[in-house]
Amino acid sequence: MDEKKDVTVCSGCKAELTVSEMMEYLCVCPHCGKHLKISARRRVKSIVDPGSFRKLKCEVPFLNPLDYPGYEEKISSLKEKTGLEEGVLFGIGEIEGRQAVIAVMSSDFLMGSMGIAVGEMITTAFETADRQGLPVIIFAASGGARMQEGILSLMQMAKTSAAVKRFSEHGGLYIACLTHPTTGGVSASFATLADITLAEPGALIGFAGPRVIEQTIGQKLPQGFQHAEYLEEHGFVDQIVERKDMREVLSRILKLHDRQKKEKKNLLDYLRIGRK
Ligand SMILES: [Zn+2]
Repeated sequence: MDEKKDVTVCSGCKAELTVSEMMEYLCVCPHCGKHLKISARRRVKSIVDPGSFRKLKCEVPFLNPLDYPGYEEKISSLKEKTGLEEGVLFGIGEIEGRQAVIAVMSSDFLMGSMGIAVGEMITTAFETADRQGLPVIIFAASGGARMQEGILSLMQMAKTSAAVKRFSEHGGLYIACLTHPTTGGVSASFATLADITLAEPGALIGFAGPRVIEQTIGQKLPQGFQHAEYLEEHGFVDQIVERKDMREVLSRILKLHDRQKKEKKNLLDYLRIGRK
């Protein structure tokens, strides 16, 4: 996506889109339907009830375990550029009056890579939801583990997966929405452990890239392999949802979950009364 002053060129059909068109269509090309990159902030805004989002704080001190040259400067400039504390924007928001913990990964922040801070933010999202009895909605977008943090970034896969497991054991509802691209360590951990897995049209979802797989197994991959549509056909993704419909679909799922929770509670109350 090339951005000039106030015109964006669609990477799908090369049509020129004005800023107001981009805002109106939630960064989806009105000509070819391609889902272009959307900022974490705008994504949250497109989902929650106006004014209902409260950002959650998670202060992780900066670490440069490998003394990676220029890493600290890069993180500082990204914080300034994106206005985010790290690669995830998360908080509690309402969707048609129903509360949920919502975490959105930012592909503007070192390709949404997962380092110590991202791992901690995702874990905190699940722990907060667990304590408050809220569902979790995660919008994943990632190039994978953050190589600048070496083995500590890989450890976030186990840490976030354990957080999902604990949350799930306590009966929490976790909805993941896989957006373009969801790959590497993020696809191999929390992003693909949801109760309900949604995806945006055309999103690339997989662990290693197609070229690496083809070279490893010595075979040609099927057409569309690793794309949301292929994964939906093969049962890995539950539903592909266009960006404009996402709020409505999430709202429906939350409503259904609420009703089931109430029905379960009523049944338990009834059984308790019956025992007396
Ligand atoms: Zn287009």
